[in-house]
Amino acid sequence: MNGIDGIFNGDSGTVHEAGQPRILALANQKGGVGKTTTAINLGTALAAIGERVLIVDLDPQGNASTGLGIDRRNRSCSTYDVLIGEAKLREAIVPTAVPRLHIAASTMDLSGLELELGTTRDRAFRLRDAIADLNKNVAPDTDYTYVLIDCPPSLNLITVNAMAAAHAILVPLQCEFFALEGLSQLLQTVEQVRTTLNPALTIHGIVLTMFDSRNNLSNQVVADVREFMGNKVYETMIPRNVRVSEAPSYGKPVLVYDLKCVGSEAYLKLATEVIQRERELRTH
Ligand code: ADP
Ligand code: MG
Repeated sequence: MNGIDGIFNGDSGTVHEAGQPRILALANQKGGVGKTTTAINLGTALAAIGERVLIVDLDPQGNASTGLGIDRRNRSCSTYDVLIGEAKLREAIVPTAVPRLHIAASTMDLSGLELELGTTRDRAFRLRDAIADLNKNVAPDTDYTYVLIDCPPSLNLITVNAMAAAHAILVPLQCEFFALEGLSQLLQTVEQVRTTLNPALTIHGIVLTMFDSRNNLSNQVVADVREFMGNKVYETMIPRNVRVSEAPSYGKPVLVYDLKCVGSEAYLKLATEVIQRERELRTH
């Protein structure tokens, strides 16, 4: 029982209008697979290319917020306040050191959200409705073109809010033996959300993370995932790179910490591929 049964029965009105940002949720119920690292660094890479990016930190651990150098004292208004309806999303947003990259930070309060919201009818749509207002009545060039949602390692109400709000899901998958385990459960949840809460939801792609080319197992996992998921898997793989893991302790994206390292190069390449897929989606 993963706690999400019974919440797939709300209304699902029209969500995504023109002039709205593209909303991508980084989801995988496994912890430690690279969701947060990808949110921070894909977000930074997209901002570097000229996109205006908002990261929404939906993990009570707040690793995306910390990794972007947002002090806990600067989280007086957080995604928790937004989801319980006590603040507008704009009020929770703070800038980061990266131009065009902003974040709505999270706090531990978020872990109580499920209890707090109880069985309120719109509980799965709190984030969707908060994002719907995001680009309304804002000064020119302060609208967002991308929203990246960093999900917690669980298929709970928080993740369902992310999936109900998103256009598409981006799944970080670690190149390790159990990579595919859990993927089918994730895909089932996406399907369940599609049939009940968000009919337009798609899988944007699967990004293989922490790839180590010298490791036979890593290569085997890549082959298996590509066979199982076909062209849903991005060509770009994120290599295991110590610079990527060091960067958050300095409160910096790896692209700022060490632009030339292989991890930074990979995230820039991933951003290009994500934008390319967006173009293809629009023309089809
Ligand atoms: P999740 O958000 O899915 O729990 P994280 O992004 O926090 O996963 O990553 C888990 C751990 O792995 C973190 O300590 C992070 O620094 C490290 N890590 C992530 N990607 C890489 C990488 N490409 N190379 C080395 N370490 C990485
Ligand atoms: Mg995380």
